[in-house]
Amino acid sequence: MRAAVFYEPLKLKVEDVPKPTVGAKEVLVKVKAAAICGTDLRIYRGTKRIKTPRIIGHEFAGEIVELGEKVEGYGVGERVTVYPVIACGKCYACMMGRPNICVSRPTIGYEYDGGFAEYVKIPEEAVAYGAIIKLPDKISYEEAAITEPLAACLNGINRLDIKHGDHVWIAGAGPIGLMHVQLAKIAGASLIFVSEMNEFRAAKAKELGADIVINPQNEDVYQRIMGETGGKGADKIIVDAGVPKLIEDSLKCARKGARVVIFAGCPEGSKITIDPNWIHYREIELTGSSASTPYLHRKAVELVNNGKIDLKSLITHKLNLEDVVKGLEMKEMIEGLKTLVIP
Ligand SMILES: [Zn+2]
Ligand SMILES: [Zn+2]
Repeated sequence: MRAAVFYEPLKLKVEDVPKPTVGAKEVLVKVKAAAICGTDLRIYRGTKRIKTPRIIGHEFAGEIVELGEKVEGYGVGERVTVYPVIACGKCYACMMGRPNICVSRPTIGYEYDGGFAEYVKIPEEAVAYGAIIKLPDKISYEEAAITEPLAACLNGINRLDIKHGDHVWIAGAGPIGLMHVQLAKIAGASLIFVSEMNEFRAAKAKELGADIVINPQNEDVYQRIMGETGGKGADKIIVDAGVPKLIEDSLKCARKGARVVIFAGCPEGSKITIDPNWIHYREIELTGSSASTPYLHRKAVELVNNGKIDLKSLITHKLNLEDVVKGLEMKEMIEGLKTLVIP
């Protein structure tokens, strides 16, 4: 089969590799659509290290074509997507009921071969974990391929704990920010601010439900948010761009008792500078959001299938498997939103 194999930074080759054979408790999925993610770019650039050689790609959907003899509950021909992060179930985080922050969490596309290939083998641990999610009729493979980041966004929105009537600031309108805009809207936000410099993304944010889109190059975000909220600040803020300065700015725009969620990863070793009294006297809650769970991934699929979240308008490019590197370069240049790879 053809697959995109990562060897070392800047060395990713689409080549012939043996088609995986499945063990008794494993499942083989024929990939119909896979999506390029910022993490794939970090792997390609060498800022996220994984064991090599490895077929990358952790956002994908496809059809079950082969089942191990001991796999129950699934059938050949079923349309599925796969939650790629496999929690151990045994560490303290898993025991606490927070498997998304499991201390080990090997992932399909990082520790196991992933979806930038014609076929992907779902390992036994993932099958047992309930990682294979059957797709209902109305969701396409292309949409399903990007329900994995949507599930992560759902975790972020849950962490943000939006109440009806909240004023929410979403910092950044890449694919993640645009998913957050839609989720914030259905969670009951009464005013959604989005800050974004890229004009195409800013227009998308407006189209998908943002009330006020601010271009930080032309306008002071702090002044605008304070002005629109009667000097109070935003109730809930989610930071969707990995820029430390943005986290500092977000805290300044937080009202008393506000909650701020850091969603995007920053470059390793980044620092922020804040006056601790700002958090102390104002009782600001500063937290993070990482990954998701098979449960939230199922909910993400349902939200799309029921027409509550629009993922189609986030898909701006479709490439052949042979062009994965081109897709990664487009990601680097911030071209479009989500790029799909169709094997
Ligand atoms: Zn991803
Ligand atoms: Zn664990």
